[in-house]
Amino acid sequence: MELEARNRIDSYPHRRLSEWTADLPDGRIEHIYTHWSAHDYHSVFPAYHFCVALDESGDIVVVNTHDVRENMRDVYEDPDAPYAAHTRGRNSHALGISIMGMQEAKPEDFGAYPLTEPLIDALCLVGARLAARYGVPIDADHVMSHAEAAVRDGYFGNVENGRWDIARLKADPRPLVPQDAADVGEELRRRMRGHLELP
Ligand SMILES: [Zn+2]
Repeated sequence: MELEARNRIDSYPHRRLSEWTADLPDGRIEHIYTHWSAHDYHSVFPAYHFCVALDESGDIVVVNTHDVRENMRDVYEDPDAPYAAHTRGRNSHALGISIMGMQEAKPEDFGAYPLTEPLIDALCLVGARLAARYGVPIDADHVMSHAEAAVRDGYFGNVENGRWDIARLKADPRPLVPQDAADVGEELRRRMRGHLELP
């Protein structure tokens, strides 16, 4: 099926993961939010600034789907001007990064486009480099998953209008609980900090 231009990797600046650097404009960024797209591995979305996707040959690519400068402001002062709307009520001075995948995923069954270790690790590398670039502390108040934000703001869960990205890294029949968001959020931050210790 042919994707619309706005959902195609080729419509945006993109690099293979091994060639990606956070070569980005100066500005005020205070938060980074992690997501999954709830679609397939190839469709990308300008609601995020960076999408971790798979290209036609199955290689991981980092796709810059939204200009970071559009979120370097209080977006709610002028909500009609364009910005990436990735995390409800939290898009001012905030970047959204996302793994493409998890279409029709449930906590107990991740479906046809599950998270994979290479995709998770790629997201953590992107998050680490962005945090370093913009001086964002990698702690639970500054770098959080959409699920952690949803817990704080009262819309967490695998329910209609709820969000649970990224509250689980593997499918598990246990009921989804807010502690899952906290645990996985901490695991993602641990892995991001690990990337910054590399030379
Ligand atoms: Zn999300």
